[in-house]
Amino acid sequence: TKSPCKMEPGVQDMKIGFIGAGNMAFGLAQGILRAGEVKPENVIVSAPSSNNFGRFQDMGVAVTHSNMEVVTASQLVFLAVKPHLIRTVLNEIVQHVTHKHTFVSVAAGVTLETLENLLPGLPVLRLMPNLPCVVQEGALLFSRGSLARPEEGTLLRGLLSSCGLVEEGPESWIDAHTGMSGSGVAFVYLFAEALAEGGVKMGIPSVIAHRIAAQTILGAGRMLREYGKHPAQLRAEVCTPGGTTIFGLHELERGGLRAATMGAVEAATERARDLS
Ligand code: NAD
Repeated sequence: TKSPCKMEPGVQDMKIGFIGAGNMAFGLAQGILRAGEVKPENVIVSAPSSNNFGRFQDMGVAVTHSNMEVVTASQLVFLAVKPHLIRTVLNEIVQHVTHKHTFVSVAAGVTLETLENLLPGLPVLRLMPNLPCVVQEGALLFSRGSLARPEEGTLLRGLLSSCGLVEEGPESWIDAHTGMSGSGVAFVYLFAEALAEGGVKMGIPSVIAHRIAAQTILGAGRMLREYGKHPAQLRAEVCTPGGTTIFGLHELERGGLRAATMGAVEAATERARDLS
């Protein structure tokens, strides 16, 4: 078979398609192009309306209203439509699919089994990105279907490296990743809002408090990632005995931040399971 992996090291010539031209398709396309290996003229995107086409055209990507055109023009096809449309879209294009194709679905809750049934005999991968892909700071987890080889995983990892962190794992992790990282972005926003409001309560103007809260979260996150230390260790390093931080941390523990956060991940994961 002529799967895209066989084309390595010619990733530059690989043809990549996106069915769906929404936020996720944009974030992924932008990340792939920023990695610099894939040329924009080798990328094509489809959607029924032209509403979102401008930002793809600005990157030099081709656009079309025909999903079939994306399939015939591409070897690697990202399915980036809302989950309830996956079946319709695949039924529409399946007769144009050949052994050269590999499919990557980002649709929440659509299982590898469903995708493999709709695309018989083809390598399929399931990818769960989160929204910070659009600023190249996503957290992405993918799982390979039964016909997708490790090389296809390596290819996907390489293509998406500019979107952020890319991890591979079993499909059973996808819902937990959705709860922890897809929804987790909103949990962090809630914390950011509360941090800023604490600043406002203590006399800092709102606009400045929100800017400082965003930077505090960004800085803490970068240190966590770049130092590779356990968060408890970094936290201990900020805590002077009898100092300000331990007084604040005591309040957070009293408020149950830790249990609430773990509970939030559990609830969001269970909801993702219910929806699949
Ligand atoms: P979106 O609404 O921004 O984009 C959906 C796109 O699909 C639009 O461009 C729309 O015009 C197009 N579309 C609608 N019907 C179509 C059809 N029949 N053929 C082709 N295109 C069609 O949605 P999004 O946020 O980009 O989400 C897309 C997928 O990504 C969803 O399945 C979602 O579960 C998944 N996802 C999103 C996020 C997120 O944070 N946004 C995170 C993880 C996964």
